[in-house]
Amino acid sequence: MARKTYRDAQGYLRFVDSGKLVHRWKAERKLGRRLQPDEVVHHQNAIKTDNRYGNLRVYSSRKEHQAHHIKKDWERTRRRRTLKR
Ligand SMILES: [Zn+2]
Repeated sequence: MARKTYRDAQGYLRFVDSGKLVHRWKAERKLGRRLQPDEVVHHQNAIKTDNRYGNLRVYSSRKEHQAHHIKKDWERTRRRRTLKR
């Protein structure tokens, strides 16, 4: 039976019974082990409630996760600039 979930103040889904973040729980199932506290689960399509396995990516630290976002932002800016020319 599916466990009940709710959307928290940050827009993430959590289980009602444990309060655990659904995307972290799912990432643990995908990896077959517990996540380290430093590990960050990223949503590939930026939709916080889309917790399908294919949408979740685990980064080993906040720094690595941040680096991914910085790179993506940079690519987006560059694309916009190219279109204007
Ligand atoms: Zn992210």
